[in-house]
Amino acid sequence: MARRRQVYEGKAKILYEGPEPGTLIQYFKDDATAFNAQKKGTISGKGVLNNRISEHLFTALGRIGVPTHFIRRLNMREQLIRQVEIIPLEVIVRNVAAGSLSKRLGIEEGTQLPRTIIEYCLKDDALGDPLVADEHIACFGWASQDEMNDIADMAIRVNDFLSGMFAAIGIRLVDFKLEFGRLWENDYARVILADEISPDGCRLWDLQSNEKLDKDRFRLDLGGEIEAYQQIARRLGLLPEGDANMVLDMETHRKKRGK
Ligand code: UDP
Repeated sequence: MARRRQVYEGKAKILYEGPEPGTLIQYFKDDATAFNAQKKGTISGKGVLNNRISEHLFTALGRIGVPTHFIRRLNMREQLIRQVEIIPLEVIVRNVAAGSLSKRLGIEEGTQLPRTIIEYCLKDDALGDPLVADEHIACFGWASQDEMNDIADMAIRVNDFLSGMFAAIGIRLVDFKLEFGRLWENDYARVILADEISPDGCRLWDLQSNEKLDKDRFRLDLGGEIEAYQQIARRLGLLPEGDANMVLDMETHRKKRGK
């Protein structure tokens, strides 16, 4: 295949120009970062699992009518997506206190919140993705009021749907991060769900044991990162039962065959 033009490289993904105008190819790396990239590492095979998990969740969300950038998975590490103009906000949805909320407000990790909280952080690595209020978003024009209404509505729908989906496989959706983008159609921009949904950007706890099955294993040096991601994929029905290493073996095998 001809060398594709790289459009962007982030911490866990690379974007390449897509085959048609208005499309991009999203490549999932094994790189992992935490604490605003002060901690760096690789989780071998993570990209393959996140590509599959995100495909599964975006497809399911698409089926219930949530508009997303996902078009189709291309191979083990790549998916075809619609090109959007990313809204520079990280949309954090919380059901249970954890992470920065617990630290900031002194609320014990694991406390069920009486209602779901949506928080917004400015996507700016140099500033450490600071928490911002609606007032800042309106004042600096990062998103319009109509767009913020659409984002909040979609975030709640995504939360309700995914909370149920994970509960059905014995997992508590503690919190997660979403990103949205503008899809331009002539002079009109529509907000759609973008980026990825995977254990990199979610807190997923086993319902029974409270075991962490997400990137906190990397952040907190708990070990067993890839096994946790595999556990999520397996419970979602994306890996054959009892063969946890299958996806990784398949990739190694393909590389050996030069494919
Ligand atoms: N999150 C993320 N990217 C970020 C910040 C947060 O994906 O840059 C996710 C994180 O994985 C967690 C949720 O958003 O599921 C809430 O994160 P929190 O604000 O507690 O931040 P952290 O404790 O990770 O600093």
